Amino acid sequence: MSDELSGNFIRDIVAEDLRAGKHETVVTRFPPEPNGYLHVGHAKSICLNFGVAQEFGGRCHLRFDDTNPLKEEQEYIDSIKEDVRWLGFDWGEHLYNASDYFDQLYEWAELLIRNGRAYVDDQSADQIRESRGTLTEGGRDSPYRGRSGEENLDLFRRMRAGEFPDGARVLRAKIDMASPNINLRDPVMYRILHARHPMTGDKWCIYPSYDYAHGQSDAIEGVTHSLCTLEFEDHRPLYDWFLEHLPVPSRPRQYEFARLNLSYTVLSKRFLLQLVKEGRVRGWDDPRMPTLSGMRRRGFPPEGIREFARMIGVAKRESVVDYAALEHSARDYLNRTVIRRMAVLRPLKVVITNYPEGQTEEFAAVDNPEDPGAGTHPVPFSPILYIERDDFMEEPPKKFYRLAPGREVRLRYAYLITCREVVKDASGQVVELRCTYDPATRGGTAPDGRSPKATLHWVSAAHARPAEVRLYEHLFKSPEPGAAGDLLADLNPRSEEVLARAWIEPGAAGLAVGERVQFERLGYFCVDPDRSADRLVFNRTVTLRDTWAKVQSRQK
Ligand code: ATP
Ligand code: MG
Repeated sequence: MSDELSGNFIRDIVAEDLRAGKHETVVTRFPPEPNGYLHVGHAKSICLNFGVAQEFGGRCHLRFDDTNPLKEEQEYIDSIKEDVRWLGFDWGEHLYNASDYFDQLYEWAELLIRNGRAYVDDQSADQIRESRGTLTEGGRDSPYRGRSGEENLDLFRRMRAGEFPDGARVLRAKIDMASPNINLRDPVMYRILHARHPMTGDKWCIYPSYDYAHGQSDAIEGVTHSLCTLEFEDHRPLYDWFLEHLPVPSRPRQYEFARLNLSYTVLSKRFLLQLVKEGRVRGWDDPRMPTLSGMRRRGFPPEGIREFARMIGVAKRESVVDYAALEHSARDYLNRTVIRRMAVLRPLKVVITNYPEGQTEEFAAVDNPEDPGAGTHPVPFSPILYIERDDFMEEPPKKFYRLAPGREVRLRYAYLITCREVVKDASGQVVELRCTYDPATRGGTAPDGRSPKATLHWVSAAHARPAEVRLYEHLFKSPEPGAAGDLLADLNPRSEEVLARAWIEPGAAGLAVGERVQFERLGYFCVDPDRSADRLVFNRTVTLRDTWAKVQSRQK
C-alpha cells in the first residue's frame, strides 16, 4: 500500500447506480448490535457507510440491530452513539432499531406461514443443528415440516402469547433442506426468549433472528445499498429470499466487503468483553483497547482514523493491515496540529555549576513548527534542570552522541553544556551530573560555529510540574494474536508502563483532559481523565518514529 488511495469498489458501485438512474439517492445504514463497545473495525464500516452517503448527497441511518435482548444493554447503545458522533458522523433524525419493526416482522412471519413458507418446529436446538447437514452433506427434513398452515399459525401465536418455555419451539423458513447453501436449509426466523428487551420491555417473548430481521429492516427504511462484511456473503441468497417472498416497500441490495484485520489486534466485541470482564484491562476505554473509546482516551484523533479508513480502502479480498499504518495516519494529523512542549519522563538531575545562583531566564519556544500560524511560548531556565536518564551514558558506545563525561551537547532552545562531573549514590547509581554552560551559546548556536551532534530536551527543576506518564505497547505480543490457539497467552505483559515521577514544563500544565501535545523527542500524548488537581496524567498516543512510512519507502 502506498500513499495514494487504495480503491473502494463499493463507492464505484454506488456512483454507477446513481449515474444509471437505478436510484435517485443513496441510503446506507450502520447496523451495530448493542452488545459491546465499537472498535476500529466498526470505524471502517462507519466511514464507509456514512462516507458514501455523504459523498453522494444521500443519507446514512444508525440502526441498532437489537434482536438479542440477552446481550444488549443501554450502556452499549449510549457508547455507540457517542463513538459515531466522535468519529464525525451524524445520522440526523435517522436513528432506528430493529425492534421498531417487531410488529411488522411478526405480521410478515404470519404471512409466510399462511403462504406455506414457514413452519413451527418442535425440535430442540441440538436436533435442528444435527439435522441441518454439513458443507458436503444435505440436511434432513424436520418431522414437523409438513404441519398444516392452520396448526403452524396456531402454534406461532401461542409462542408469541408466552405459552411455551424458552427453546421449546422455533419458527423456521421453509426453503430447501437439500440446498448446497446451509443458510437456505430452513433457517430459524423466531426463537422463544422470555427476556426483557431494552426497547420493547416485556411486550415480546419471541425474537426474530438477525437473518430475518435485517433485510426487512433495510427494506422498511428504504436502504439502497446494504453493506456488510464478507462472512455474510453466503447469507445473501437468504436475504434476497425473504425480500422476494414478502410485500416489502423497497428492494435493497446487499454488498459484502472485507473486514478490517489489524496486526497485533483482536477485533471482536465478544473477546474485548472478556478482557474487560476478567480485568485484564482497565475497562472498555483502556487506552490499549482497539475500541473507539479506548483510542479516544489514548489520544487518537478522529481525523486520523478517518484518514486511515480512506487510506486502506475497501476491497473484497481479506488482508491484515499493519498496525503501524494506523499510527501513521494519526501521527500525520497530530504533527500538523498539536502544540510542542518539553517533558522528562525518567529524570536525571543536572546542575549548571557556572550559572549564576538564583538567576532564571526565559527562552521562546515554537508552539508548532509545522503550523506557520502558531506562536511561541516561554520556557524558563535555571541552574538546576532535569534531563532524560537515557540521554546520558557514563561509558558511551560508539554511536551514542548524547551526554557523556567531558562531552558537550545542546539543550533545546537554551545553551550548549558540557558534563564535568558524575555524582553517584552509595549503590553506584548516577544521581546528578555537574555541568558547565557556555554563556556565548544562548539560543543554542555557538559563535565559533561548533555544533554538537545531540540536542536534548529538558525542564527547569524550579519550574517543572509533576506528572504521571503512561506508555503503551501492543496489547498482544504476537502480530497474529491467537494464531497458536490461545488468545490470552498472547497478551503482552508489558503493554503498559506507568512513569509516576515525570516532569513537564509549566507551559504544559494547563492542558485539559483530552487535550493533545507533542512532548519533544518523545511522542504525542493526551491528558487522561485520571488527572488530579495537582498532577496531570498523560497517555502516549504514538511515538514520533514512523515505522510504517519507513517500510513503505523501502518497498518503493
Ligand atoms: P464483532 O464480532 O466485533 O462483535 P460484529 O460484526 O458482530 O463485530 P456488529 O455490531 O454486528 O458487530 O457490526 C456492525 C457493523 O460493523 C456490521 O455491518 C459489521 O459488518 C461491521 N464490522 C464489524 N467488524 C468489522 C471489521 N473488523 N471491519 C469492518 N467492518 C466491521
Ligand atoms: Mg455481531
